Amino acid sequence: MMECSNTNNNSNCPQSCINSRFDSMIENCCEYAERAREAGKPIIGIMCEYTPRELIMAAGGIPVCLCGGSEEKIAPAENDLPTALCPLIKSTYGYCCTQTNPFLEMSDLLVAETTCDGKKKMYELMARRKDMMVLELPQKPDAPHAMDHWLSELRRFRSFLETRYDRKIADAGIWKAIETMNLERALRRRLAEMNKQTPSVWSGLQLLAYKSIISGIDEDLEEYRRLIACGANAAGSEKQSCVRVLLTGVPTVHGAERVVEIIENAGGAVVCMENCTGIKPLLEDVSMDASDPMEALASKYMHLPCSVMTPNTRRLEILRRLADEYDAECVIELVWQGCLTYDVESYYVRQIAEEMSLPYLKLVTDYSPSDSARIALRVEALMETALRAQA
Ligand code: SF4
Ligand code: SF4
Repeated sequence: MMECSNTNNNSNCPQSCINSRFDSMIENCCEYAERAREAGKPIIGIMCEYTPRELIMAAGGIPVCLCGGSEEKIAPAENDLPTALCPLIKSTYGYCCTQTNPFLEMSDLLVAETTCDGKKKMYELMARRKDMMVLELPQKPDAPHAMDHWLSELRRFRSFLETRYDRKIADAGIWKAIETMNLERALRRRLAEMNKQTPSVWSGLQLLAYKSIISGIDEDLEEYRRLIACGANAAGSEKQSCVRVLLTGVPTVHGAERVVEIIENAGGAVVCMENCTGIKPLLEDVSMDASDPMEALASKYMHLPCSVMTPNTRRLEILRRLADEYDAECVIELVWQGCLTYDVESYYVRQIAEEMSLPYLKLVTDYSPSDSARIALRVEALMETALRAQA
């Protein structure tokens, strides 16, 4: 195993960076959500980055991400769902059928989108327990009608929230929420972009930890600022022997960080994560120049380059750019078993890596640690190849 200090235990990074408020993120969010509920604010569960949190916030609600990262919840989910389904979907549902996600239990409403088939059908089962609003997401992002349809779905969502919570959602309230979300995106983007430098500042595991399942909490925004200042004063964490990794593919939600850990233990420095738990949702802000906040929201969220879109050329353009900006030395693609859209799209990602002369590795796995040793061997072989390519 190669030596690399780009881990959470990085001794070059001040202790104050390593010990972060986000270490207690779930507890903090639980407390925050409980207080909000007591104050009469509805908790609204979301399960995808296409959901405009801004509309929920403008309606006085608290958007909470419910995506499951626990392997334990998969077996109970398989009583109702096919085993071949993606672990993220099964884990999310497993929390639902075992009633063990406090945020889901607290939720007054769930918001879902028509993304991949597995999620869409799982939502039908989940909707038996909680009220659910399903937004119909067009999947040809550049088709002329797509934006009109998405905008009309978001307007329908706004009216739905107004009726359900018996309050008018003013444009001013939406702009205020947009401002908060843009600020959060900007801070998280700055944090992530500190890894453009060599040596990089943060390990992939640190960046995964430095975020919250509830957006816009004041103390979290302050913590992002503190971490940015802390990182700016830290000596770079990455040793010369590390290989700079661009990780792409499926989200690695809270609890499902195993592959990132394996990569970093095997000598990789995960300098950039182009996925929904990494930089993908942070790359574009909501424009504050538009006259209609709903159009501004529709445009930002429609541009999110998920593999459920066809064609998904934006993701490929972004990958080229990120590989360049973060000085990636290899590309690792993570695909959850049963995720057909990312699996098929890996054809293009491999092509891009080849065009850029970057060693490429595709890992197809689930939440079980049973294949960790095999994955570590494959990652170590990739690191050797990348180091040889640099020599
Ligand atoms: S990968 Fe696609 S479906 Fe999954 S959270 Fe991101 S946008 Fe939603
Ligand atoms: S990882 Fe793939 S299959 Fe799983 S929820 Fe996301 S898009 Fe769907």
